[in-house]
Amino acid sequence: MYDYIIVGAGSAGCVLANRLSADPSKRVCLLEAGPRDTNPLIHMPLGIALLSNSKKLNWAFQTAPQQNLNGRSLFWPRGKTLGGSSSINAMVYIRGHEDDYHAWEQAAGRYWGWYRALELFKRLECNQRFDKSEHHGVDGELAVSDLKYINPLSKAFVQAGMEANINFNGDFNGEYQDGVGFYQVTQKNGQRWSSARAFLHGVLSRPNLDIITDAHASKILFEDRKAVGVSYIKKNMHHQVKTTSGGEVLLSLGAVGTPHLLMLSGVGAAAELKEHGVSLVHDLPEVGKNLQDHLDITLMCAANSREPIGVALSFIPRGVSGLFSYVFKREGFLTSNVAESGGFVKSSPDRDRPNLQFHFLPTYLKDHGRKIAGGYGYTLHICDLLPKSRGRIGLKSANPLQPPLIDPNYLSDHEDIKTMIAGIKIGRAILQAPSMAKHFKHEVVPGQAVKTDDEIIEDIRRRAETIYHPVGTCRMGKDPASVVDPCLKIRGLANIRVVDASIMPHLVAGNTNAPTIMIAENAAEIIMRNLDVEALEASAEFAREGAELELA
Ligand SMILES: Cc1cc2nc3c(=O)[nH]c(=O)nc-3n(C[C@H](O)[C@H](O)[C@H](O)COP(=O)(O)OP(=O)(O)OC[C@H]3O[C@@H](n4cnc5c(N)ncnc54)[C@H](O)[C@@H]3O)c2cc1C
Repeated sequence: MYDYIIVGAGSAGCVLANRLSADPSKRVCLLEAGPRDTNPLIHMPLGIALLSNSKKLNWAFQTAPQQNLNGRSLFWPRGKTLGGSSSINAMVYIRGHEDDYHAWEQAAGRYWGWYRALELFKRLECNQRFDKSEHHGVDGELAVSDLKYINPLSKAFVQAGMEANINFNGDFNGEYQDGVGFYQVTQKNGQRWSSARAFLHGVLSRPNLDIITDAHASKILFEDRKAVGVSYIKKNMHHQVKTTSGGEVLLSLGAVGTPHLLMLSGVGAAAELKEHGVSLVHDLPEVGKNLQDHLDITLMCAANSREPIGVALSFIPRGVSGLFSYVFKREGFLTSNVAESGGFVKSSPDRDRPNLQFHFLPTYLKDHGRKIAGGYGYTLHICDLLPKSRGRIGLKSANPLQPPLIDPNYLSDHEDIKTMIAGIKIGRAILQAPSMAKHFKHEVVPGQAVKTDDEIIEDIRRRAETIYHPVGTCRMGKDPASVVDPCLKIRGLANIRVVDASIMPHLVAGNTNAPTIMIAENAAEIIMRNLDVEALEASAEFAREGAELELA
């Protein structure tokens, strides 16, 4: 019997496990479908290149055929180990834009607004470069560092951005977001600092915390509409964990897993559940809806030097010395997150804030790293930060071991394609500016022949991919149609909440790991202080006054 059963040990789940088990009088169970995070490729940052192919540490989902992407089904990696996606991600530390949280405040109240978010980001952060300040914290568990290794081409990209009239930004999480610069990463001493490393590893010995890995949650157990436990499958055997009478089930399976488990358990759109023979517990039509993701397109160029991280015989000496640097000093190119530099720009001057993000990789990247691309080259990722298209997670089968239906419905809003066309044009302008032009041999994809808007649209439909930020599938809101209320309680049910990226009402303009960790920190406080919606508003008012005083 547990006071809290947390399902999913990802970015959010690890934070919850840490905070809730800090009270020795509470018994906490953390269930995770994947194994422990012992594989060294998780911890060595450049190991990311090989994690895409892992079947053991990666759910490796495929989307439904995408109508606006020539019917293609896209590869959707999600982490499946302690740390979840934070154990296989690119480690870029970005909080999003202040306005994202103003929109959350509109949807869910002040406790989810910018002042509160900033307070939590700072509380969680241990920034290795910036001192404690208006924007940064140094006392938290989440290590945020500058990269130990930056390839000369990543520096050239930033220089070229400035030559293309984009300002330099020394801190994307500081005063403003616009500009080109170098990413800070969730790393410590040249190693990945996943949510598991930051929040779980240090508390593994707590006697009131049980962590069950290789445990695939298959159903939430309800008595009437009250959650009382979870069924899971481990080594082909069915097991159950139960809550104490006032205990809670906390769903942190991520934006794909959480709505999927809810639907398998009878919570979702009644008609869809019926179609798959799932008995209805509660008709909640928005479960799985409101799916938002960042669609991404690349420019890939051959380099005229051997500066990039290459796959070539001539790279072997650098590879060997890089391995020694990493093993003995935790330095060198193996500490690279690959997406070393980048930036945020507007697709057109009339925009009030950046709606495009760049990730520059000083290497070729083919098919999410699943295919080897020989030679020396570089890749610019360009993504639409504020997409209007909305998709859904649905059921394909009532079998919990079958993946769900994933339909992001990319480019269903025409505005999104216009943003991406602008992104390609701005990206090319940067890559043709002098500092990058001197490394340029030729454009491999899409290739110089792709010039007009129609040709670019065709190319986007042929090649665009996810940049891995699905959110929104258990939308939080004050309105009765939302899946969870501002305390993250599932509407119409008792003793169950959602705490992960799926509660975001709107996708943030940036990478989603730090925002998800922040969500879990906020949730842990709501749960531990037993706050209700009115209390949230009151304490947020207090927090805002405090923040305003501090800013003054
Ligand atoms: C390849 C990749 C690169 C990315 N790069 C970045 C980046 O550079 N910066 C950034 O900020 N964000 C990045 N992201 C996104 C970011 O990592 C995610 O948004 C974030 O980790 C989501 O956190 P979460 O807690 O919602 O879900 P997750 O971290 O995915 O955690 C969900 C957990 O639940 C478990 N689970 C799922 N179903 C079940 C089940 N049935 N039973 C038991 N357990 C289950 C999963 O195995 C997983 O451990 C990236 C993501 C990916 C996949």
